Amino acid sequence: EMKKLLTVLFLVTGFIGFAQQKSIDQRVDELMKKMTLEEKIGQLNQYTGDNTVTGPLTINPNKQQEIKEGKIGSMLNVIGWKYTRQYQELAMQSRLKIPLLFGLDVIHGHKTTFPLPLAEAASWDLKAMELSARIAATEAAASGIHWTFAPMVDISRDPRWGRVMEGAGEDTYLGSKIAFARVKGFQGNKLGDLDAVMACAKHFAAYGAASGGRDYNSVDMSDRMLWETYLPPFKAAVDANVATFMNAFNDINGIPATANKYIQRDILKGKWNYQGFVVSDWGSIGEMVAHGYCNDNKEAAEKAILAGSDMDMESNAYRFNLAQLVAENKVPMSVVDEAVKRILRKKFELGLFDDPFKFCSKERQEKALNNPEHAKIARDVAAKSIVLLKNDNQILPLSKETKTIAFIGPMVKPKRINHGFWAVDLKDVDSTYIVSQWEGLQNKVGKKTKLLYARGCGVEDMSKAGFQEAIDAANQADVVILSIGERWNMSGEAKSRSNLQLPGVQEDLIKELQKTGKPIVILINAGRPLIFNWTADNMPTIVYTWWLGSEAGNAIADVLFGDYNPSGKLPMSFPRSEGQIPIYYNHFSTGRPSINEDKVYKSAYIDLPNSPKFPFGYGLSYTSFSYGDLKLSKTKMKDTETLEVSMTLTNTGKLAGEEVVQLYLQDKFGSVVRPIIELKDFQKVKLQPGETKTLTFVIDNEKLAFYNQALEFKSEPGAFNLMIGSSSSDIRLSANFELIP
Ligand code: BGC
Repeated sequence: EMKKLLTVLFLVTGFIGFAQQKSIDQRVDELMKKMTLEEKIGQLNQYTGDNTVTGPLTINPNKQQEIKEGKIGSMLNVIGWKYTRQYQELAMQSRLKIPLLFGLDVIHGHKTTFPLPLAEAASWDLKAMELSARIAATEAAASGIHWTFAPMVDISRDPRWGRVMEGAGEDTYLGSKIAFARVKGFQGNKLGDLDAVMACAKHFAAYGAASGGRDYNSVDMSDRMLWETYLPPFKAAVDANVATFMNAFNDINGIPATANKYIQRDILKGKWNYQGFVVSDWGSIGEMVAHGYCNDNKEAAEKAILAGSDMDMESNAYRFNLAQLVAENKVPMSVVDEAVKRILRKKFELGLFDDPFKFCSKERQEKALNNPEHAKIARDVAAKSIVLLKNDNQILPLSKETKTIAFIGPMVKPKRINHGFWAVDLKDVDSTYIVSQWEGLQNKVGKKTKLLYARGCGVEDMSKAGFQEAIDAANQADVVILSIGERWNMSGEAKSRSNLQLPGVQEDLIKELQKTGKPIVILINAGRPLIFNWTADNMPTIVYTWWLGSEAGNAIADVLFGDYNPSGKLPMSFPRSEGQIPIYYNHFSTGRPSINEDKVYKSAYIDLPNSPKFPFGYGLSYTSFSYGDLKLSKTKMKDTETLEVSMTLTNTGKLAGEEVVQLYLQDKFGSVVRPIIELKDFQKVKLQPGETKTLTFVIDNEKLAFYNQALEFKSEPGAFNLMIGSSSSDIRLSANFELIP
């Protein structure tokens, strides 16, 4: 009976869902019938407002007029219930009262900020990442925002590229899992809920492979590489039902992504049957003129819309040219209609036609922006993102009874820097809520601990005038904590660097402090892998803290004093020198592989090892783990079968801790060459001291398959090497198995 009832219920809800879906399409069609071509084109334009919460509540008179005339479909950088409401009221004066969409770069939090996306990826904690996106969405949606331009899911193997800070690092498997988690987090249960925003998978595609690591630069790559390495995180976003896509500034094999039919029509809207809409990147349609691809804005508009770019962010290309292009039969009406429908559908799904002001609520905004629970979560995610690089003398964790601590460096006192790049300055929210590193330490230690401070030096300036003060402070202390790194905005959009060393005289300061003989803990703050070879070789205690967001200070103190046992693992390889870039762990072999750094007639440098300074997947803990009892359920499998792998993990140290157990595969021979090692699964496991857990992994055909020469995703019979370890270069267990026909 129960079963029957459930089936009926299931069918009924299914039908209601279907009917609702149908009704959105019907409503879109009905509206479309009423729209003039001008009004349709209006929906395809997006413009920026001012980045503020309360605004100067005066909207440019021309904009006001354009909105009232239905010439604008969406605004970005209009923030806050009051300001979004004011804009929306203008839209409600237009003939058809089509609501505006409000988009914003909510990249790693809104008011509460979380670690940079790259830093957060170091947590390898998918639930934590989903949750941080959830909180960001809650705060943004309560501030009038419908849509975030996140997550950036671009894979990158090049730390010179400043936007690595915004992604999930170099690995496709990890990046795909994270893309899925972040989309789910932003979009919540469903669009239309008051705590959900539309997510946007960007930048489609291959933006992270910019030649030379220079932002916006060209990408020339094989289709196979595109499919195997760069597209899967986008597909994962589609699987997570991502509402929108953003295209990219770069060209791919000579065709700008914005006008790339193969990428947007054939792959995204064709093969993947994607139903959301694609927004251009800022001005990327108009920029095709400078790019040398289009003669003028008109040709750019034609090429972009034919290639499947639905919304024009800031180019004015659609607005002033589409009507004429339709009249000249260069752009079919059906193409314009399709773009408009895709956008309208989302406005209906968000419920904006039923209540255009539903996201404009003073009470909700105040509540969401002052929720102490959000700070707690941010602190937890931040602690999980910290990577312990070295702890040779076991100085860490520090004792809370330490008598005197000198906290030195340019990153200690400032607050705002802890946000890192891509955080919005909410103008009516002062920054006192951001926990500086200094405040975090103050909050942590008891009254008996004396704290000394010296700035030591700036980030980039070459003055050593502050060194003596720092040395004096160090001499009086039992422990020195030194917080250095990159300026917060040295990583980000248009922040490519050819030199990844610690800037300025910071490494000189380390050398001077080393002479005091005091124990020194080095904190490195950055938005990308930096190069600090002298420090890595000579200093025993190094913690990579990235930029951790508004709870940075507390999270750092949690890790330094052992209230959180660090568990982060690097999501990108850290090079020894810029000359090694692009550097990534899952490369192919050559016919002359360099084994044991042998350099004679090998694929190697004569002046440098091939290996990175710190490898992908690397990170230490205050405890230790042992891996054992590897068992495979079989040693031969067919592609229709699965293979179960089990192993035991034991916490062999004295503290509770988490380990990220990483499973890698190597397909030994293929019809195309295969990577020497590839991440295919992982589990983050928490263990008490002495505790042992049995972990199981399942190998299925999906994990064995790859894109062959014909671009078919298929596995091939033959030998596989299975490796399980604590990083990509710290393999603890391995076995072979065979895929049989
Ligand atoms: C960036 C996008 C961003 C957009 C809007 C562009 O410059 O490339 O990622 O979403 O600006 O701010």
